[in-house]
Amino acid sequence: MTTSATDPTEIAFLRQQPVKMLIGGQWVPAASGKTFATINPATGTVLAQVAEGESEDINRAVAAARKAFESGPWPKLTPSQRGRLLWRLAELVEQHTTELAELETLDNGKPIKYSRAADVPLTADHFRYFAGWATKLEGETIPVSIPNMFTYTLREPVGVVGQIIPWNFPLQMASWKLAPALACGNTVVLKPAEQTPLSALRLGELICEAGFPEGVVNIVPGFGETAGAALAAHPDVDKIAFTGSTEVGKKILQASAGNLKRVTLELGGKSPNIIFPDADLKYAVRGALTAIFFNQGQVCTAGSRLFVHKSVYDQVLSGLSDAAQKMKMGPGLDPATDLGPLVSQEQLERVTGYIEAGKQEGAVAITGGKRAGSDLANGYFVEPTVFDKVEDEMTIAREEIFGPVVAALPFESVEEVAARANRSIYGLAAGVWTNDVKQAHKMAALLKSGVVWVNTYNQFDAAAPFGGYKQSGYGREMGHAVLDAYTQIKTVWVNLR
Ligand code: ADP
Repeated sequence: MTTSATDPTEIAFLRQQPVKMLIGGQWVPAASGKTFATINPATGTVLAQVAEGESEDINRAVAAARKAFESGPWPKLTPSQRGRLLWRLAELVEQHTTELAELETLDNGKPIKYSRAADVPLTADHFRYFAGWATKLEGETIPVSIPNMFTYTLREPVGVVGQIIPWNFPLQMASWKLAPALACGNTVVLKPAEQTPLSALRLGELICEAGFPEGVVNIVPGFGETAGAALAAHPDVDKIAFTGSTEVGKKILQASAGNLKRVTLELGGKSPNIIFPDADLKYAVRGALTAIFFNQGQVCTAGSRLFVHKSVYDQVLSGLSDAAQKMKMGPGLDPATDLGPLVSQEQLERVTGYIEAGKQEGAVAITGGKRAGSDLANGYFVEPTVFDKVEDEMTIAREEIFGPVVAALPFESVEEVAARANRSIYGLAAGVWTNDVKQAHKMAALLKSGVVWVNTYNQFDAAAPFGGYKQSGYGREMGHAVLDAYTQIKTVWVNLR
């Protein structure tokens, strides 16, 4: 793929429309023949027609995944061979960095500088990290207190795994789901988000090229209420891994009850980002800026509640506002763009609806506060928005907005801010900015969230566990913690007498 496509037709993958789905190693249209449009959010125009999977397609994909799990080459591969396939996939992802980054930016809207420097390399990194785990799934020998018994455990794959992913980091979310599942020997039916199916489908081609046996990875694009719901309810799916809204997470859990699927959920957040007066304010302001505006705020860990100590509140807010106003908004493919469009019309309406709610409840947008106009009016652009005069009870301080909107809240003491920060149904992530090491660790212990970042924000690494407390979900991704989600333990007793 050559560099810098400014026109989607320059991407070869988009010329073969409608884009098909991957079932049992074959690229096929939907059983119904239906397709749906995926939109370029920078322009509001159709980017591609994609096969629209529904329950019949899910049935076929699950059957293919079951067959690949029970028979065929996959269960006979050695751990080393599974690891090699994942490593090969990482290499292929890297080799196609430009093409994958452009597809991601066109479909999602995110700035190309981030898709190229973060989304694609981190995807490759994820496959490479889990390639290493394939050969390290060890059981234990157990010193039981019954004479003559030799007792040990085996770590076995769970089986057919359904994976439902969101639209904010389409490629990375695919890798977070696929890499550990495959390292552990499972087979997969992946359903990308309807807003952003393209990069996962292109990844499917690379999965085939890497040499994964047919049926090991099946990719069925389609809508949540149809394809997603069918996957979550399917009686022959052993586990569902889901990333998305808390509302849908609850539906997934209900749908899983039929055959008691294992479920892991990575859900919403309303993460507090807390600046103490002794922090290095230059870095804290920059951190507050990226915590909320990275990926247009469409990040489950977005630092959307900015708690700032009263003594530095005005200073931090004016620094944040100035920096927000300097961000360059524009189409993601422009290398100078800092802030792209939101993913969809629906998301645009949702975010601007929250902005209006904030204003009506008495908060004041000191920066931004509306949809972008003039030459960006056809896309789904919302100005980076900083709200002052916010109360903890306001809608914008409680609900997940999933957009470039931050609620600033002054505080006075450690205990007070910890209590207010924890007063949320969510508990995904939190940020703390301070140079006092005791205060940093105290806050890390007090905050009820799955991740705490100190003097940094939005750090992710394939080796570091990630997941939520409270209604932000359960189960962990990344690191060795995720292996529990994709394996089950068998205990073997052998009488040696
Ligand atoms: P958002 O509201 O931000 O779009 P969702 O939680 O609705 O996030 O979507 C995340 C993923 O869940 C997407 O792949 C979507 O298609 C899927 N999804 C939505 N509704 C359902 C459902 N009822 N059952 C299963 N999957 C669903």
